[in-house]
Amino acid sequence: MKKIETHLHTAPFSPCAIEYPRDIARILKKAGFDAVIITNHYRKDIYEYWQERGCDPVDKYLEAYHELVKYCKKVDIDAWLGIEVHLWRYNVGDVYGPMHEVLLYGIDEQFLRDNPHIYDLTVEELKELCDKSGVLAIQSHPYRATSRPIDPAYVHGYEVYNANPEQNPPHINALAYEAAEQHGLIMTSGSDFHKRGDEVSGMYIPTIVKDIAGFVECLKDGSARLIQE
Ligand SMILES: [Zn+2]
Ligand SMILES: [Zn+2]
Repeated sequence: MKKIETHLHTAPFSPCAIEYPRDIARILKKAGFDAVIITNHYRKDIYEYWQERGCDPVDKYLEAYHELVKYCKKVDIDAWLGIEVHLWRYNVGDVYGPMHEVLLYGIDEQFLRDNPHIYDLTVEELKELCDKSGVLAIQSHPYRATSRPIDPAYVHGYEVYNANPEQNPPHINALAYEAAEQHGLIMTSGSDFHKRGDEVSGMYIPTIVKDIAGFVECLKDGSARLIQE
């Protein structure tokens, strides 16, 4: 089996993340990971932040990915492209109020270039786009205090174990697990890595999986295993 981190943020693209790709590669190696999926926050306000500084936000997004690939390669870890999209239309109150965040697995660079304003979509539109593109939409931490579960008809799965300790007391993860089981949704687990010490979850996948398409397949066929510690 291979150990993979499924939910990871890097500085500076995710403003809440502390570590940069160079250190992340070493941290993950030490924790025994073989692969990682970068899932930086993709929000309207972050998009505008980079735009105001004269950068193409999609270029900045991909720059973080390429940097992670580069440093992970040095320590023999595969780094694959993913994203955590924040669907702002569902916010209640401020930007961090109850909201919908969705991890996408199976995207490529062209997908991002074709959909730079993906955060504007409704859950129905996002699901349709993902189905058309062979991408899985997994809602992050659906029962966290700052989230509300998305109708299971409009996601492929729920993140049922999010190891971020401050934000996910055990009953929050248990609720997500029960709901996913009840609705026959795909289940994922991840560290929601922002800083050193967060690298405690992830998933186990068959050794043969060697790209993000393979990861998508093993989520679909049930051969990926949760790490709940
Ligand atoms: Zn964050
Ligand atoms: Zn996250």
